[in-house]
Amino acid sequence: MGGNWKMNLDRAGAVKLASATREALGSITSAVDVVLFPSFTLIEPVATALAGSAMAVGAQDCSAEALGAFTGQVSCDMVKEAGATWCVIGHSERRHGLAESDDLVGEKVLRALGSGMKIVLCVGETKQEREAGHAHQVNVRQLRSALVDVTEEHMAHVVVAYEPVWAIGTGLSASPQDAQDAHHQLRRELASLYNAPLGDSVRIVYGGSLNPANASTLCALPDVDGGLVGGASLKVPDFLAVCAAAAARTAANLAH
Ligand code: PEP
Repeated sequence: MGGNWKMNLDRAGAVKLASATREALGSITSAVDVVLFPSFTLIEPVATALAGSAMAVGAQDCSAEALGAFTGQVSCDMVKEAGATWCVIGHSERRHGLAESDDLVGEKVLRALGSGMKIVLCVGETKQEREAGHAHQVNVRQLRSALVDVTEEHMAHVVVAYEPVWAIGTGLSASPQDAQDAHHQLRRELASLYNAPLGDSVRIVYGGSLNPANASTLCALPDVDGGLVGGASLKVPDFLAVCAAAAARTAANLAH
């Protein structure tokens, strides 16, 4: 489960939320990997607040470049030094809000993996693309393009997030059937790009208005391995409920 805090909170608020989340989740973090993604400037205090816990900290983006004359960009080494071990790449608010291309997303993926980071690679179709019947095509195109030159070994550090753009921050989540179909398609594509065991083992998480009311249903779907959570990660009881739904899924898997 990832908590994408987006461009919210000041330093005191971030430390308070990280500490409260840590306390609320308690033993859930032994069953579910939980990563918080604060703004760049908040990575260090959040990492300090989570030190000694099983929770990790990630960046919401990184530069495709290693270092140099790239004003305003932040490198993988910089976020790692601040305490981040994960990075979100290809979030729709960057693809669509900042016109990040598939190629740039692919370059960032290679840079982050090459720097030893784990990544959450976001893919997802817009409302228009879904209505035109192109959802699967778009998701597969984004996946393929992001993974060009990514080795099988590096795939152990990749989580794919299916995030339909129309569901992010809108209160509208994908239907269980649509989410399952999209995840299944992505898994099949991973199997064909690499091999069947890899397709089975890569974690594919859902993002888009995940909340306490829909998390149990969505997290129980066969091809859904967790979630990337925006708004609900800013409220401790809501994030706890969503993470508890993922923990219930883990427990059900272990029972089989
Ligand atoms: C996100 O930002 O990745 C996200 C899924 O946001 P929300 O949960 O608010 O829809």
